[in-house]
Amino acid sequence: MSASRGFGSNRDLSDAFQEFLTACAKTALTLGLLCTVVSAALLVFTCFRVNDPNAHASIADAAANSKIFGKILLAGILGVTAGSTFLFWGEEVLGVLQLLGAAALFFAPLYLPSALGGASNDATKVAFGELQSAGVVFGVLAVLVLAAEIVSHVRSRVAHGSKSDQLKYGKGIKEEADRQNVFMGKCWQLPYCRRFVRLRCPIYHSKRTCWKEQVGCMCEEKVIQDAMENRPIPKDELLAAKLIPHNHKLTFEQKRDRCKQCVIYNEHQRHKYKLAMPITLGVMILLFAFTHSLLYGETTFLTEKINRVVQVGTLGALGQYQPPPFFVEMLLFVFFVVVLTYAMKVLEFLIFKLKV
Ligand code: SF4
Ligand code: SF4
Repeated sequence: MSASRGFGSNRDLSDAFQEFLTACAKTALTLGLLCTVVSAALLVFTCFRVNDPNAHASIADAAANSKIFGKILLAGILGVTAGSTFLFWGEEVLGVLQLLGAAALFFAPLYLPSALGGASNDATKVAFGELQSAGVVFGVLAVLVLAAEIVSHVRSRVAHGSKSDQLKYGKGIKEEADRQNVFMGKCWQLPYCRRFVRLRCPIYHSKRTCWKEQVGCMCEEKVIQDAMENRPIPKDELLAAKLIPHNHKLTFEQKRDRCKQCVIYNEHQRHKYKLAMPITLGVMILLFAFTHSLLYGETTFLTEKINRVVQVGTLGALGQYQPPPFFVEMLLFVFFVVVLTYAMKVLEFLIFKLKV
């Protein structure tokens, strides 16, 4: 009785801790959003204020204020990233929204100057700089969140394959006690091949694979019936193959659909994913390494081009800008992580949705 009370109180504690963390995340997100919106608005307002010739606002004061607003904006970004990551972890749109937020801040000098009528001075320069810096920090954090999410997603796919609730055949079936799990093995080398069926199964004795024959213990009553009736199977592979039942009522596509919903085939897909995932990762890294100098040149060109557009938009307010190598490398890494994320998503789609 004390043990059950102990278990119950442990669960209460973990639930209470979870609720505490959720409350913290909601607070961080709310305060973060408040700080972000207010400080970004104040930075934009500063630009408008010093743009008004009748306001006589001190440009130096406005520039100093912009630096303070920039710090508040940074704190807000940290709160938004921490809160949204905790609350929306696993949601597909999380990374996209965070990257869009980062882009909105980073590219502010592209669209704000037209609203300002093209005016520029030291204060607008500082304000734009603060918005862009916040955008870079937000972007780096968003990419780190995206990378962590990919790793967690890949680990879950490697461990569980596609969701079990998508399965129709063999759903809820337990792995065998004398299980074997040969990597990329045949159906009888996987954990869901039940020993009592296997010993009387023509697929096993003919050393074939059920999904290639499109008939097996999860989908054909005859295979189970023969095992229940203890029907003897010849040990010879060719003779055993002659006893593999055939279903002529279903088309090739219908049988293929059947396999796609089967726990055995799903396990086989999980093995394929385990094989294809490191290959994809390796190919991407090799491609990145071999094309690095080309990509570096293109990214530098892109950064300079964006800067030229910003220069035109701000009438030269931001000065000549030569992207430092570290910034270009970081941007390149961001592109690489985004491309890698989508390559992994395509791989998952092919293996767990299309089941190729
Ligand atoms: S069809 Fe089923 S019982 Fe027969 S070998 Fe394959 S997994 Fe085992
Ligand atoms: S549905 Fe496909 S994978 Fe599952 S037992 Fe039948 S043939 Fe094998």
